[in-house]
This record gives sequence, C-alpha cells and structure tokens, in this order.
Amino acid sequence: MSRGTAEALEPGPMDPKLGRMASSLLAVLLLLLGGMSSPHPGLVEKVFRYMDLHQDEFVQTLKEWVAIESDSVQPVPRLRQELFRMMAVAAEELRRLGASVDLVDLGSQQLPDGQTLPMPPVILAELGNEPGKPTVCFYGHLDVQPARQADGWLTDPYTLTEVDGKLYGRGATDNKGPVLAWVNAVSAFRALGEDLPVNIKFIIEGMEEAGSVGLEELVTREKEGFFSSVDYIVISDNLWVSRWRPALIYGTRGNSYFTVEVKCRDQDFHSGTFGGILHEPMADLVALLGSLTDSSGHILIPGIYDHVAPVTEEERDMYGAIDLDLEEYRSSSQVRRFLYDTKEEILMHLWRFPSLSIHGIEGAFDEPGTKTVIPGRVTGKFSIRLVPHMDVSVVEKQVKQHLQDIFSQRNSPNQMAVSMVLGLHPWVADVKDHQYLAAKRAIKTVFGTEPDMIRDGSTIPIAKTFQEVIQKSVLMLPLGAVDDGEHSQNEKINRRNYIDGSKLLAAFFLEVAQLHE
Ligand code: MN
Ligand code: MN
Repeated sequence: MSRGTAEALEPGPMDPKLGRMASSLLAVLLLLLGGMSSPHPGLVEKVFRYMDLHQDEFVQTLKEWVAIESDSVQPVPRLRQELFRMMAVAAEELRRLGASVDLVDLGSQQLPDGQTLPMPPVILAELGNEPGKPTVCFYGHLDVQPARQADGWLTDPYTLTEVDGKLYGRGATDNKGPVLAWVNAVSAFRALGEDLPVNIKFIIEGMEEAGSVGLEELVTREKEGFFSSVDYIVISDNLWVSRWRPALIYGTRGNSYFTVEVKCRDQDFHSGTFGGILHEPMADLVALLGSLTDSSGHILIPGIYDHVAPVTEEERDMYGAIDLDLEEYRSSSQVRRFLYDTKEEILMHLWRFPSLSIHGIEGAFDEPGTKTVIPGRVTGKFSIRLVPHMDVSVVEKQVKQHLQDIFSQRNSPNQMAVSMVLGLHPWVADVKDHQYLAAKRAIKTVFGTEPDMIRDGSTIPIAKTFQEVIQKSVLMLPLGAVDDGEHSQNEKINRRNYIDGSKLLAAFFLEVAQLHE
C-alpha cells in the first residue's frame, strides 16, 4: 500500500465518524488482502470487528483512567492516594478479565527532605497457565508526569477530550492508553468466547516516572516465581518515528553520568583581590569539559569507541528504509544545522553511536548581572549515552583516566574528583526473535505495511533489567505516534492508534502462538 493511501484515510480534519468508517473499511480491505496468509483469518476478522463496534467503550475506559491524577513525580500525599486508587482500578479491570491479581506492596519511600511516602503497589497478574501455549508478559506503567491546564494545555489534562480523532489527556499515550490496549485485546477474546492463544502476565507499576523505585528488586526476587514461566516480554512505552507508520524498537542507549569537581577552597574569591595569582577552579573545569569532545561531536576520550559494535550492511539498509523527513525534523527541532547531513548518519548517531553531553556547572555564579566572583569550588556534569557493546565499568575507567591526564597537564594545585553517579546499560534485541517476527506480521495484518525498525536514543533501564535478570527476549512494541507529546502539554493518543493498537495486540497473540509451536 502506498503512503498516500494511508494518509488519505487517516482521520484528519474530516468528520470523525467518517474517519472511523474509513478506517474500518481500510481494515476490511487489508484483511481481504493480507488476511489470507494470516494463521486465523476468520478469527482475526471477528476480533477486529468486535473492536470496531466497541471502540467507544474502550475510549470511555481510557477516559476514566486519565481522570485519575496518578502523578508519581510530585511527592504529595494527595497524589499518592490517587496512585493507589489508579492501581486498585486497574487491578479491578484485570480481575474482570478473569486474571488472578497480586498487588505487591513496595513499602514506603524516604524522600531527601525526611518525609516518608507510601509507594503504590506493583500489579502482578496472570491469565491462563496452559503448558502448550507461550506466556507473554506485558510491562506498563500507570503513573504520569505532572500536568496543569495553566502550563498551556488547551483542555483539562485530566479530562480526556477528543478533537479530530485525537484523544487529549495526561497519560493518554504514556502509558495508560497502551496498557488499556492490552486489556482491550484480551477482553475481545473473552467477550467473543474465543480461546486466548497465549498465556498472559501483566507487570504494571506506578512509579516509572519517578525512576521505577523498587522495581528491579521485585523483578530479581520474582525471577524464579512470577517470571519463571514467561517466554516473551513486551513493553509498549515508546513512540513511532512517524505519524502513520508503525515501528518496532530493537535497541536503547544506556547512560553513564559523571560529575567532576575542581576545588581550591570552599569559599569564593574576589576577582579584584585574588584575580591574577590563582589557579582558578573554573578555568581548570572548563579545560576539562572542553577536552571531552571536538567540534564535530567526536568523543576524545581514548579507547571510548573500542567496543562500539561495527555497523553491518544489513543494519545500514534498515536506516535507509526508515520514514523520517529530515528537513521537517530539523526545522521542527528549531536547529539551523545538525552535526550530520544525511538521514542515515543522523539516525546512527542518535541510536547506535555513543554521544557525550555537557549538562551544567554547579557552584558557578549563574545569575544575571556582573558579580566579580572567582568560584572556589565547581562541579561539572556530563553524561555519555552508551551503545552495544560498551561496558559501563570500562567507560568509567576510561573517563577517569582521561580527566586525570588532562588535569595533570595543567599542573594545577587544585583538587579534582571524578565520580560516575549513574551507570545504565545499553540494550539491543535480536530482530530475528520469534516475537519480532510475530509483531511484524501482526503490523502487516492491521496496518498493511512493514514497520520502521528503530532504536531509541534514550535509556529505558527496565528493558535491560528484564533481559539480564529473566534472560528472556524483550520486544518494544510502541503504539503511539511521533507527535503524541508524551511528558508535554496536550499529550494525546490518536483514536486510530488506540483502537488499531488494540487490534495489533490481538493479532500479535495469534502470531506469536503460531510461531511458538
Ligand atoms: Mn512511559
Ligand atoms: Mn514517561
């Protein structure tokens, strides 16, 4: 199918009902075309039709979930209560599906200001336990970023509002909509009295936006318990790179975060009284930070590229096939010129090469005005996004060694201290895994196209945790479009993404069950 057709059928400014009709028509057409090769054409069609007929109910449930202000970022008792309510509502919904649900207590959280707040429980749920079927485990989260209408929302962020086929509301795409798409997919099989082709497990947390506090511990503890029977893990917590074309994500970068402190004394100096006779800490620090990269973005730390996986021909082709309008991307980012000129180079430097960013300097005089101070002690902050097969502890050694070398060349009497305060591993999947093949086929059935095979330049630590602790393959199957605005004002999910996303998961269950045999 051509790109033009898909866009013409996207519910745009036309009457939303018309758009819905058109997209149902499209689904039937695609079934006729693509459904022949599908393992259960009749069943797929039946499930899709059910979803089309019941889509307003699915939207209504999303509306009820979005109405709960489950903000985990602001440490406020009222919001914690909302989080608890959110988890209880979700648990109830899963029980209605017939799942057995465990609400695992994570205890409480000690905040830097001494305050203690209870943590929302993690939902561990399971539906079906038949030995002949694969077990698919879905991870999602129901907490959200803060949102106030005064921040520039056009509608109340906690009242899901549909405009031109777009469902606006905090958490609509991150991550309540995708969690509900899973629920919808299961509920369609149940409502039709059809046998679920897979066993399903859910792990749903309420502290993701606050750093998934306690989650890794829980996953490790449940390795031989809840996770012992899991074959595949699926995360739907990212976005496509396109407005219309689905994507599969097969890699994320890690992150190692460093601080480098240069200290002469604790107090600041007057630059009239001391300027001219000091080894100034800020001058040392600026030289250190300036030694990290060159003007083309290349990292100058010796050895840093040694373990970066070589680019294969096959991989290079994947970048070429991705639907990205570089010019639109550049202008919407409000950047005059990127470091690279081609789509392939841009994507590779976002996804599969490391990058070093300087974030700030603590202790520096950074208010407007012309105060004449020599800071006595300053701390620079920078981080390196890591890619396969870089190793966090090797990177730590290389960075420390490099900064020592540069610092000793300056022959400064100041004290320098480097620490790595965060070390998160990169993650990459094998795109030939069953569940990637199953997801590709399901995408073909629902959307009539091949997915963009993409990576995510940011870090999603839970993927690596699942892969390392449980040692099962992780699939990232995003449902939202590139312009959903997660974490931003006017976050939304398209009705089409939400409903077709639910269909996609139903089709995925069938495909993964067939491949598993
Ligand atoms: Mn998320
Ligand atoms: Mn988020």
